[in-house]
Amino acid sequence: MIRRTINELAAMAGAELANTNANRNAMVETDRLIEGVMTDTRAAKPGSLFVPIRGERFDGHDFVQDAVNNGAAAALWCRDVVIPDGLTIPLLLVDDTLAAIQQLSAAYRSHLKTKVIGITGSNGKTSTKDILAGLLATTFKTQKTPGNFNNHLGVPLTLLQLEEDTEMAVVEMGMSDLGEIAMLSRLAQPDAAIITSISEVHLGDLHTRERIIEAKLEIMQGLQPGSPLIYNADNPQFVRALGANPLIDELKLVPFGSEAGHAYYPTGYVTNETGTTFTISDRACPVLFTPLLGRHQMLNALGAIAAARYCGVTYENIRQGLREAAVTGMRNEQIRLGSSLVINDAYKSNPASLRAALDMLYCVHPDKKKIAVIGNMVELGEEAAELHRNIGSELQMEQIDLLVTIGEMAAELGAAARARYPQAAVLHCEDKAAITELLREQLREPSVVLIKGSRALQLEDIITALRTEE
Ligand code: ATP
Ligand code: MG
Repeated sequence: MIRRTINELAAMAGAELANTNANRNAMVETDRLIEGVMTDTRAAKPGSLFVPIRGERFDGHDFVQDAVNNGAAAALWCRDVVIPDGLTIPLLLVDDTLAAIQQLSAAYRSHLKTKVIGITGSNGKTSTKDILAGLLATTFKTQKTPGNFNNHLGVPLTLLQLEEDTEMAVVEMGMSDLGEIAMLSRLAQPDAAIITSISEVHLGDLHTRERIIEAKLEIMQGLQPGSPLIYNADNPQFVRALGANPLIDELKLVPFGSEAGHAYYPTGYVTNETGTTFTISDRACPVLFTPLLGRHQMLNALGAIAAARYCGVTYENIRQGLREAAVTGMRNEQIRLGSSLVINDAYKSNPASLRAALDMLYCVHPDKKKIAVIGNMVELGEEAAELHRNIGSELQMEQIDLLVTIGEMAAELGAAARARYPQAAVLHCEDKAAITELLREQLREPSVVLIKGSRALQLEDIITALRTEE
């Protein structure tokens, strides 16, 4: 994590020092070494810098005393906020604390020798980040974005956590609007970037597929000239837009994807309930196995392999690293309940990730009963109902013994499935308790259950309830 004196931090953040008079010896105080930066008062460690952020409901400035009680030794501070009586820690005055922590993180990153790999895309950022960090860690001191800290605040905090001797950092970048990835990429100044996949995510915010593509391509704006841009080339509209972007002249393009001809593509794969075994286009690479389920995770792994190779990881280390690959929870997470397998994919849902999850469900345990519990996909804008119906009519119901839907839009999906397969078992449930009840009955027979819905639905509650009843 960052270790700098208060004076140095002020210079890096473009801040003016205040409140140092409250200390008996201001000179000594501002030479004090600060370790780490926190925005959450509960995470404030002794000797850290607290950064109060103004949110919609709360203003972090109101909680500075909590941070001090936890040991914060200095704080960034918005100039227009009155300094409370009795607050004795040195303050770094700025116009806007969010902009200042971003500036601070970029200044810190510029000084680091660490190689940064930036990751963006519609789906698979966190999965790819976790896989790649595992591959790099076989060979280098590696750090990665904690959890899903991928936004305007998460990226600066990730950068500020990097140690000076960290050799590789894998930084996830997310967005909900145009301009955000460009900004995050300029902060992280990546030495290589991965665009994992492009699909209809944030269609509600961005309105068109062209704008979704444009938003992801912004990652090029922070890339150093000559750096590799590793991208999933399965979406032709994306590939066309990339080809027309003048920034590619400065970069090394490394496409990967399902089709032959890319720099990295699978030459064969088998995916089942234990994981995925696959071979890739580069003959120097041995047969690979990863415990992650599904073709989409193999594609994420391909992007990670491309980046790991660029960083100098040997194929033998890649093979080892992939065997141990594990991704953050609720992304295809496998949970055993008695003789049944529950796949917790309740972290988020959108057409591409739902299709990927269904593909995976079709592949695992061909002999077991299959149940798909599907909730609404959100943030799809005006096309929401149609996108739900499309998936419903594509479902391979001969492979699904029971389809359970929850939410108004998911009901449309269920209706479309029933329209194509009038005999199929399709049920709509009003709430999670009803689904839990239903599954408790169903799981008396060995089954595979996929649970998938958007974050707002928190469908993982069903699994928690089933587990507590075990
Ligand atoms: P977020 O935007 O919320 O940060 P993310 O891009 O980090 O999401 P993950 O957390 O890796 O994505 O995965 C989210 C969901 O998308 C999971 O259900 C996962 O199974 C699915 N998924 C992961 N990779 C892909 C992919 N390449 N194609 C389609 N779906 C995918
Ligand atoms: Mg993520």
